[in-house]
Parts: sequence; C-alpha cells; structure tokens
Amino acid sequence: MEEVDYLCMRCGNEYRGPFDKLVPVERSCPKCNSNSIRRNKKKKKNPTASA
Ligand SMILES: [Zn+2]
Repeated sequence: MEEVDYLCMRCGNEYRGPFDKLVPVERSCPKCNSNSIRRNKKKKKNPTASA
C-alpha cells in the first residue's frame, strides 16, 4: 500500500499514513482527532532538481 503524508488543517500535525486508492479511508488526525486532513503532497524525486 502506498504511504502518503497528511497534514492536519486544524492543529498542523503532519503524519504519514497508508493510502488506499480502492478504499477511501476516513482520515482523522491522530493528535486532535479532527477530520480536516489534507494530503501533504511531496515532490517526487526529480533527477533534474537543482541542489
Ligand atoms: Zn490535528
């Protein structure tokens, strides 16, 4: 399963969790239990990225 980073819009907690494309999981912040969670997209490794 793919793991993605989540960001809580309420308390700003960042955490990593599993992401299932087939089964939409109800996400909630492990810290404040808010469901205002967003995927925190990270840049994929880019060979042309400047250092
Ligand atoms: Zn939170």
